[in-house]
Amino acid sequence: MKFLSNAVLTVRQWWDSDYVPPGAPPLPDEDRFDFPRLVPYLFLHAGCLLLLWVGWSWFAVAVAAALYVVRMFGITAFYHRYFSHRAFRTSRFMQFCFALLGNTSMQRGPLWWAATHRHHHAHSDEEHDKHSPVQSGFVWSHIGWLTSRRNFPTDYGKVKDFAAYPELVFLNRHDFLVPVLFGVLLWAIGAALATWAPELGTNGPQLFVWGFFVSTVVLLHGTLFINSLAHMLGRRRFQTTDDSRNSLPLALITLGEGWHNNHHRYAHSARQGFYWWEIDISWYVLRLMAAVGLIWDLKGVPPSVYREAEALKQGKPVAASAE
Ligand SMILES: [Zn+2]
Ligand SMILES: [Zn+2]
Repeated sequence: MKFLSNAVLTVRQWWDSDYVPPGAPPLPDEDRFDFPRLVPYLFLHAGCLLLLWVGWSWFAVAVAAALYVVRMFGITAFYHRYFSHRAFRTSRFMQFCFALLGNTSMQRGPLWWAATHRHHHAHSDEEHDKHSPVQSGFVWSHIGWLTSRRNFPTDYGKVKDFAAYPELVFLNRHDFLVPVLFGVLLWAIGAALATWAPELGTNGPQLFVWGFFVSTVVLLHGTLFINSLAHMLGRRRFQTTDDSRNSLPLALITLGEGWHNNHHRYAHSARQGFYWWEIDISWYVLRLMAAVGLIWDLKGVPPSVYREAEALKQGKPVAASAE
């Protein structure tokens, strides 16, 4: 019976993630794997099996790859560097566009994402970190934590700055709306192309499966690797209070987020590759956006942090720190 009421509440919250019925049981006081919360992720992965039915075309594969890159940028540059860390400024209209793009990734709403991530920086690799491989192992830090009912509500107290915008709160509450519309749009475009450009060899179901399911699943795991692997694999330049690492392969698949030890040392910066040889594609694109006036006040890395990196390289003692 408890499972049934939990399942009904979960389905209701797919439409309004802030909905809590009167008399609802309190959230569990510890993290637990919750099957009804796993269903959206099972749905995403199972959808990839439809490849067997829809087949492939160069066009559909290219669309899936392009949507991976564009939406990874939406997550790293906007959900992470903008909404979580305020590493640059922009207009209210652009801010809403950033939230829409990030929301197509099925990584919940911008305010939930930012609040959860701010909590990670405050408690990184400590007992209360929601996704620490040091505390809870790889599987929990990668995907298990997402299923825990305790981690479901948005802690609006941690994102008061952006919760002041009703349009962002709306997207955050109805975080399933944008992904559904995105999927419908892909199907419609595929169906139109089957009629108007049959030489592309695609159709509605095929473009939907590649652009929505395949692209979104790969994007999800690419992002989640920063919670799991970026605290396990790679080198530590800075003696931060957590176990964050710098990793070129992770930086390449996440457009720059793999310089995670840099990021935990100085999270306010819009660049995470602190040197020219640390490839950070999100930073390059943000510089371009700033050059054409779409965003401004990009925050950089202060000289004191570079001096600290130099001192550590020379083996001089530096107190552990994270910002
Ligand atoms: Zn981290
Ligand atoms: Zn961060």
